[in-house]
Amino acid sequence: MYLSSFCANAPAGSTLARVIPEMHGPRLMAVVPSHSNPLKGYEIRLGADANVYCTCPSWRFKKLPVGARACKHILGLKAQLASTIAR
Ligand SMILES: [Zn+2]
Repeated sequence: MYLSSFCANAPAGSTLARVIPEMHGPRLMAVVPSHSNPLKGYEIRLGADANVYCTCPSWRFKKLPVGARACKHILGLKAQLASTIAR
């Protein structure tokens, strides 16, 4: 009943894919507490394009290609990961 009415309402020839955010969205790597507001945190995410994203203003307003951007949070996380691997 529900299914048949749903199919009848679907536009013919629709090629829209259902994107599942959990599978295709950027993967959360770390949350770094903000220095100016400890209640806030910046999220560092690994995108499906293998670029690293940060939600801080310093990263977002950089006029560089995403792959060339870095901020203190990303650099700090990379240093942290490097020291963890070196151990
Ligand atoms: Zn940042």
